[in-house]
Amino acid sequence: MPESKTLPKRAAVIGSGFGGLGAAIRLQSAGIQTVLYEARDLPGGRAYVYHDDGYTFDAGPTVITAPHTLTDLFELTGKKLEDYIELMEVQPMYRLIWSDGDRFDYVRDEATMVKQIAERSQSDADGYQRFFEYAKKVFAKGYTELADRPFGRFSDMVAVSPSLIKLRADRSVYKTVAKYVKDDHLRQALSFHSLLVGGNPFQTSSIYTLIHYLEREWGVYFPAGGTHALVRTLVKLFEELGGELRLSTPVKSVELVQNGKATTHRIPDG
Ligand SMILES: Cc1cc2nc3c(=O)[nH]c(=O)nc-3n(C[C@H](O)[C@H](O)[C@H](O)COP(=O)(O)OP(=O)(O)OC[C@H]3O[C@@H](n4cnc5c(N)ncnc54)[C@H](O)[C@@H]3O)c2cc1C
Repeated sequence: MPESKTLPKRAAVIGSGFGGLGAAIRLQSAGIQTVLYEARDLPGGRAYVYHDDGYTFDAGPTVITAPHTLTDLFELTGKKLEDYIELMEVQPMYRLIWSDGDRFDYVRDEATMVKQIAERSQSDADGYQRFFEYAKKVFAKGYTELADRPFGRFSDMVAVSPSLIKLRADRSVYKTVAKYVKDDHLRQALSFHSLLVGGNPFQTSSIYTLIHYLEREWGVYFPAGGTHALVRTLVKLFEELGGELRLSTPVKSVELVQNGKATTHRIPDG
């Protein structure tokens, strides 16, 4: 990105996953002429889409758990998300069906959730409420306080370690859940959320239990037309703002160019 006053501000973003799209929209909306480079033939990254035999398959993410992050992004550009795409709240958020015929509806409403668990076991219903209080504390630390804090140096990590140790972030999601409830199906129902971000519940840090709080706070949503419809919407917004998306363009190197006192970054074409 050139620093020189004589040159217009320009930026390059590498990768058109949700992260890259969000960054590119923010830059473009701040008046910085932005090019978004994508190695693959379609945008979206893990939210890629496949078409086969008349069917459409979203490759990765399926649930939206913090819709306000999208609303905020649109508002930043002076637009309204609902003018572009419909986000539909999903109820129940998840329906779990086991091979022995057992079912569990994972819902947003606390009373319904507790009632359903109490029908299995009163002590698990009490345990679930204590587990939820734990998830709330993890959310306050891991999401509200730390989610947008950069950990560029080792000392940044050390600074937050005491609070993470206190919350037993070293324990896995499953082990944490198992401390609060005994029913095995319930343990699974309260542990699977780390799969949403590709994590193994038996290994992933209990920090991911914050998803429970996040879901109750904001709900779970699905974009009409599937996740890739949301990707296409973000691309549309970016292009309407004047940004440029270059597909099938893997960035192979970034050159540093000394321009007087300023150093600029240049992405060689091709
Ligand atoms: C199966 C699965 C299910 C998931 N479900 C959910 C869910 O339900 N809810 C949720 O919130 N999250 C979910 N996630 C997580 C979510 O998909 C990711 O966190 C998110 O999509 C990551 O976005 P990103 O922009 O950081 O990276 P990516 O999506 O990985 O994007 C990186 C992009 O960079 C491009 N790229 C890389 N190198 C170059 C280069 N040199 N030049 C040009 N382009 C390059 C890649 O091609 C790619 O398009 C899921 C993930 C998976 C795998």
